[in-house]
Amino acid sequence: MTDSMQARPEARIGSEVTAHPEQAFGTDPLQVRDTDHYTDEYVKGFVEKWDELIDWKKRYESEGRFFVDLLKSRGVKSVLDVATGTGFHSVRLIEEGFDTTSADGSPEMLAKAFENGMNYGGHVLRVVHADWRWLNRDVHGEFDAVICLGNSFTHLFSERDRRKALAEFYAVLKHDGILILDQRNYDAILDSGFSSKHTYYYCGEEVSAEPEYVDEGLARFRYRFPDDSQYHLNMYPLRKDYVRRLLREVGFQQVETYGDFQDSFAEDEPDFLVHVAEKS
Ligand code: SAM
Repeated sequence: MTDSMQARPEARIGSEVTAHPEQAFGTDPLQVRDTDHYTDEYVKGFVEKWDELIDWKKRYESEGRFFVDLLKSRGVKSVLDVATGTGFHSVRLIEEGFDTTSADGSPEMLAKAFENGMNYGGHVLRVVHADWRWLNRDVHGEFDAVICLGNSFTHLFSERDRRKALAEFYAVLKHDGILILDQRNYDAILDSGFSSKHTYYYCGEEVSAEPEYVDEGLARFRYRFPDDSQYHLNMYPLRKDYVRRLLREVGFQQVETYGDFQDSFAEDEPDFLVHVAEKS
């Protein structure tokens, strides 16, 4: 941690911005640290805009075959995508021949994912509306793999919720199943001061994501679009070793972590981390 960060345990970056009227953050957005709030954050305008601009082809290219090859190398046939969102990974995996079930806690996201499945290759997604904390109530059967991608696990604000969700993921896996869960590299954002709080650009410079406020219990990101509209997400800044420990504590035997899809990396370098947790 740099001196400037120690002197100031919380950091507010950039100008003060009010939340988008469509998003309900109330009078003090920095106090919104609630697992249940995710459905109010992924409002229609945000989701539509994101999906319109983040070209799926470009996302395919930047991600390459990392997840597909990883799943195939483990002999995975059935996959439960627990954070389907607008369906990017579900569609990708269906196209690669995986028997894929698509779950999410947001009905709007599932509707968009279903529409995208039809539009990108006429795939009829098998969708299940389920919150991770009660996943086994709504999802039946066992899977070779569970995927929780796109920095989704960060939406859980209490340790109790994180443990509950991981236990539910563990329970829907076959005895030798794997969980693949990714996250932003929050250690770099929390520890390295302002320098690491860079703006992440998507789709050229058209969409930007930047941390507007960060402390140990909240990372509030601002997303700006070419029409000058902006939306926010309040997330819990997961530290890498904390997530690895939780994964082991809920029963996963082995946890391997990749940084920007590489197995060896300098701690503060990657933007994204991917954890692969094995049940046996
Ligand atoms: N994986 C997709 C991607 O990479 O484009 C979507 C990622 S989006 C950042 C996070 C998704 O997680 C949202 O669709 C949200 O509804 C879902 N989500 C967040 N918390 C959840 C919870 N407790 N239970 C179920 N789904 C949740």
